[in-house]
Amino acid sequence: MSICPICGKEVTPRSSNKAFPFCTARCKSIDLGKWLNEDYRVPATPDEAGEGDEGEPDPKAGGLSGASAEGDSPSKPDMRH
Ligand SMILES: [Zn+2]
Repeated sequence: MSICPICGKEVTPRSSNKAFPFCTARCKSIDLGKWLNEDYRVPATPDEAGEGDEGEPDPKAGGLSGASAEGDSPSKPDMRH
């Protein structure tokens, strides 16, 4: 006694089952379709985006803007007079 690889049901013996080793012709066609899909699927498309450094932040974008604000701060005591 065997089990249908598609649906897991008991498979009728080959003598009275045209779809053997599947339980029904339907399961047989499902299995066939799986293999065909596997065949048509293109293996590992070498179409990856060439640029891989997209995760790093732009060094030009801000970061050092606090230094220039110190020049004209009104809170500083006036020592020139
Ligand atoms: Zn089945």
